[in-house]
Amino acid sequence: MNEMQLKFLSRSENEVFARNVVAAFALPLSPTLSELSDVKTAVSEAVTNCIVHGYRGGEGWVTLACKTEGAWLHIEISDSGSGIDDISKALTPFYTSLPEEERSGMGFTIMQTFMSDFSVQSEKGKGTTVRMSKQFGAKAEGDAR
Ligand code: ATP
Ligand code: MG
Repeated sequence: MNEMQLKFLSRSENEVFARNVVAAFALPLSPTLSELSDVKTAVSEAVTNCIVHGYRGGEGWVTLACKTEGAWLHIEISDSGSGIDDISKALTPFYTSLPEEERSGMGFTIMQTFMSDFSVQSEKGKGTTVRMSKQFGAKAEGDAR
């Protein structure tokens, strides 16, 4: 069991920062390259959502918490921004509240597809928390590590 917590500003450069921090934290679990890339993509999507939707380009804190437990990596990413009105609509593939910014509405779908577990909790005006977990070694032996 290991645990970490981090808080950073909602600046676009912190998307790369956050996904590399999570990858580095996950390394002792010896994930395959493909598992690691799945996790990095999911973290990027969640952090980008905090930046572009939660804070709508303004400045605020994004918090990241990670925990390992056996072969599992648990990740929690939160903002204290706008919150989500209708979560089930937000989770619908291709739904985006920002079509004019050429968003594809696939972020949540990607997180759900790439991770073993996923959930989102949100309150209008208070913020949003995404929790997702991945079990390493859950499928396909023989991937490059
Ligand atoms: P893409 O991720 O493909 O660029 P997107 O961000 O619009 O497009 P999703 O990531 O699936 O698509 O999110 C769907 C919708 O959920 C968003 O358009 C937004 O309305 C809402 N949403 C997601 N994350 C947050 C958040 N942290 N705060 C407020 N609203 C959010
Ligand atoms: Mg998104």
